[in-house]
Amino acid sequence: MTKKTVRDIDVRGKRVLVRVDFNVPLQDGEVKDDTRLQAALPTINYLLEQGARVILVSHLGRPKGRVVDELRMDPVARRLEALLGRRVAKVDACVGEEVAEAVAGLDGGDVLLLENVRFYPGEEKNDPAFARDLASLADVFVNDAFGTAHRAHASTAGVAAHIPAVAGFLLAREIETLSKLLETPVHPLVVIVGGAKIADKIGVLENLLGRADRLIIGGGMANTFLAAQGHNMEASLVEKNAFDVALRFLDQARQHAVPVYLPVDFVVAPGPDSPTERMTVPIDRIPAGWMALDIGRDTLHLFQDKLKGARMIFWNGPMGVFENPAFEGGTLGIAEAVANSGAISIVGGGDTVAAVRRMGVVDRITHISTGGGAALKFLEGRELPGIAVLQNA
Ligand code: ADP
Ligand code: MG
Repeated sequence: MTKKTVRDIDVRGKRVLVRVDFNVPLQDGEVKDDTRLQAALPTINYLLEQGARVILVSHLGRPKGRVVDELRMDPVARRLEALLGRRVAKVDACVGEEVAEAVAGLDGGDVLLLENVRFYPGEEKNDPAFARDLASLADVFVNDAFGTAHRAHASTAGVAAHIPAVAGFLLAREIETLSKLLETPVHPLVVIVGGAKIADKIGVLENLLGRADRLIIGGGMANTFLAAQGHNMEASLVEKNAFDVALRFLDQARQHAVPVYLPVDFVVAPGPDSPTERMTVPIDRIPAGWMALDIGRDTLHLFQDKLKGARMIFWNGPMGVFENPAFEGGTLGIAEAVANSGAISIVGGGDTVAAVRRMGVVDRITHISTGGGAALKFLEGRELPGIAVLQNA
């Protein structure tokens, strides 16, 4: 799938509305981590070099259609100003007279940041009137927010009914990389999936089944696969109502002749909050009432072995409750193995990306997806509303 990008249309002197993902963590009224702002700079700088009048819009947190003062975009504007090295004007609304005036006052190369778009109930409802008012501010729409591309909101999809819509560089790179995984995977392709819930990931597993050469399943969701096979997982996180789904999937994998590797040992403890009592046990030896909270050393070695020789790796979902350092070993070990693999590596998911950052191997991962839910939907083979509305290349 290829979509037009900002490079494929004339933006010179135009008013360009850019949907960015500035949903950054705040602390004491300041931006705590500006990774997402930095990620948006290539598109913004390109537009500025072209002499466009740049109007940025994003959501921040979950104000649910009401004005929440702590979630105003002012700290974002200040940090963006520092990163861009030029003035970023900020308005306290997204539509209306104040905004129209601010836009009218923009010269080529100026930047305006609108207020938190989720202050408006029309945003998440994709209200046509709100979308039309937003679109009326600009000549061109650019979507550079992959993380919200799976939502049909006014600022991600609705506006495109009124003005030409293209992708920003961040979004284009996501489409390009994830499409490659689906359309022209490099073999051997190894897929590693973990995390808590089967329901979140089974669609992706099923869609990648015909493409992958090996599958590795760890984390909480592996517990459910193992329990469905009849193993005693004791008090581990297990989704009893997903046994059918798990067994059906393993059956499909057998039919495709794709090997599926599951954990053979675990780091166990009475609970995630009692790490001092932890130990490592083989499968079926979990002490009564204890939980499997990370993969064990043998499993890590098995998984590392199955990553050897891979030429493409997709990884989503931690191998354990990595938020607690007592149970981070498996996840960090996989992060290191993926980074050292020499394969084209694609990592997605908010928690997985956090683990890769903690391991300090970001630079050795080919592509870190900025969208958790959006990446999963894309890899399930579904059309994302925020991408569907963009012009085809
Ligand atoms: P991502 O955000 O990367 O897509 P998920 O949100 O699907 O990942 O899964 C991450 C969560 O899964 C983490 O909160 C982690 O604690 C949890 N998890 C992983 N392994 C286990 C386990 N064995 N038991 C309980 N929870 C687990
Ligand atoms: Mg998560």
